[in-house]
Amino acid sequence: MRLFHEHEQVAICHDRDSGLRAIIAVHDTTLGPGLGGIRMWTYPSDDAAMLDVLRLSEGMTYKNSLAGLPLGGGKTVVVGDPRTDKTPAKFVALGGFIDRLNGSYLAAEDVGTTTDDAELVATRTQHITGLPVARGGSGDPSPMTAWGVVCGIRAALAEARGGDGSLEGVHVAVQGLGHVGADVARHLLDAGARVTVADIYADRVAPLAELGAQEAPPDAVHAVECDVLSPCALGAGINGTTLPELRCRIIAGAANNQLADETMGDELQARGILYAPDFAINAGGVINIGEELQGPYDPDRARRSVERIGDTLAAVFERARETGVSTHTAALAMARERIDAARSASANR
Ligand code: NAD
Repeated sequence: MRLFHEHEQVAICHDRDSGLRAIIAVHDTTLGPGLGGIRMWTYPSDDAAMLDVLRLSEGMTYKNSLAGLPLGGGKTVVVGDPRTDKTPAKFVALGGFIDRLNGSYLAAEDVGTTTDDAELVATRTQHITGLPVARGGSGDPSPMTAWGVVCGIRAALAEARGGDGSLEGVHVAVQGLGHVGADVARHLLDAGARVTVADIYADRVAPLAELGAQEAPPDAVHAVECDVLSPCALGAGINGTTLPELRCRIIAGAANNQLADETMGDELQARGILYAPDFAINAGGVINIGEELQGPYDPDRARRSVERIGDTLAAVFERARETGVSTHTAALAMARERIDAARSASANR
């Protein structure tokens, strides 16, 4: 495993009393504190947890940069099953570990964690975002992430087909129906799209099926013939195995690190599949948190900011078209340019 990805700091956290096992990675703070969510997941090994936190925190650096936020990249993974291993004591202990980083890392929610967990973290540190609106926070970022994904799907449709990106009659396959995916599917149904859904838990599929979505098995949803595949589960869904099975025109979803490796962006381009880079399209949550940090939080202003994801993606698509590179490469270049410019500006000061 390649460990060094230019991370500034990685903290391995173990709390004997609560049993917490977590890793916090701060990737880059050139633009500001490293913001990124706390993910709780059943990792098959400690190496898998480490690899995930390294990849995710680096992705946060590019996401926050491309979204124009004064924030760097960071992430936490908590090892365990969020359905069975979660205890309040673990999240209180995690708050203590986050506090020791003195604000170089700003936490938020992610897969497997909720605003309740954020409140527990907040008992030990102020470096936590996404607290309930009643406490002056911006609440669960997922609805804004979902809205940003829908705006991004429209931008991708406009790029691929021309027109205004209307969703009427468009077939979208949504993989993963958690906080974000379920909301994406509901917005798409509301806008007149034909929606196919899949999740590993049947209780997540049933409410969408009741609203008119078709069901697909979770291990086959990537291969559904559709206009848009919207990955909203975990990362690395676009890999050497799934790539030849894809039958979509566009990939546009919320999941972080959708591409198993950098070559997948080129492979998608070669197959004529338009890829909306994950760290561009799923920035709604961090844009919402950016609004919270600017304060006082105004949900309408936040929503308008999130809608600019469509413009960001249009700029990425244009850059890719003009330079002949994949959309992933174009978005990375745009994100890195902003960080490099900030580094040069501070070196010249
Ligand atoms: P979540 O845990 O609420 O939902 C994930 C869903 O995916 C769950 O329902 C899970 O059962 C399902 N799933 C897992 N593996 C699957 C598989 N192989 N096939 C089908 N379904 C599967 O998480 P979330 O908050 O909705 O986030 C979803 C994705 O979006 C994650 O990759 C996350 O990192 C990313 N993301 C989330 C936010 C946010 O605001 N929550 C922001 C940016 C990016």
